[in-house]
Amino acid sequence: MDLPGLTDLHRHLDGSLRLDTLRDLSDEPFSSKDLLFTRGMGLPSALAKFAFVLRQLRTPDRVQRVASEICEDAEAEGITTLEIRFGPHLHTGARPEAIVDAALEGVNGRAGLILCGLYGDDPAILEHWVDIALTRPGVVAIDLAGGPQIGQGLFMAPYATAFKRAAEAGIGRTAHAGEGRSPDEIRQAIEVLGVQRIGHGTTLLDDPAVLELVLKRDIVIEACPTSNMQTSAINSVAEHPLAKWLDLGVKATVCTDNTMFSVISSVDELQNIRAIPGLTEAGIQTTIATGHQAAFRR
Ligand SMILES: [Zn+2]
Repeated sequence: MDLPGLTDLHRHLDGSLRLDTLRDLSDEPFSSKDLLFTRGMGLPSALAKFAFVLRQLRTPDRVQRVASEICEDAEAEGITTLEIRFGPHLHTGARPEAIVDAALEGVNGRAGLILCGLYGDDPAILEHWVDIALTRPGVVAIDLAGGPQIGQGLFMAPYATAFKRAAEAGIGRTAHAGEGRSPDEIRQAIEVLGVQRIGHGTTLLDDPAVLELVLKRDIVIEACPTSNMQTSAINSVAEHPLAKWLDLGVKATVCTDNTMFSVISSVDELQNIRAIPGLTEAGIQTTIATGHQAAFRR
């Protein structure tokens, strides 16, 4: 069956710009070798690389350009369902409203925007994203991104109010959870935050009760196998649990996370996952169909 194009529901703006554009915008010299993700580099190292990019993307005009180019690149890959996510407060050259409006102009209806807060951020930031989304239907969801620091606890409860307000307003909810960390993060994201989707969730099968919860609530997992291998959440793409998830009836969609940092496209990632034992062609088609179905709509 021919499906209506590919999907990517988990693509970070600040990790998915063109390397050429970054070179064009950058006022600091950099080598792409130092900037790009490498296998097993770990999550803290990955997050540190965003800081460099964000210094080059402070202003609305730059955010608009990058958002537009990401949509162009996605179209060229054959993606017809796209969501782009970013933390407006991380672009410090203007108020978050102006940054979001610039991204919306760049996207120009070609993708949904997801506004991210980071674990550890003041919960008021996530609530502010809900306020911004209320008057901007192009913002389709909020997300909790990054990862809780060791010793910080799981840190979901402070964000529950923002997520509840989002749910009441018909705004989508997703969270980075179980990215090589405890599956209890996945449980909390579902039970405490009320998310409809989970980013990564690589440890889902470590806890049968969490698996049961994901199935019962019809939660969709945004799987990012290459990213997971690079952040050491899994040892290799072949070890990604995607095929097992599909066998168990878990809904999952394959995403790139960061096309620039990982030097991948959705087409590449659909090829990469063929290394996963037991993953069938029908299974791959199911993940694409899930991507179309699970997109946040307002
Ligand atoms: Zn992500």
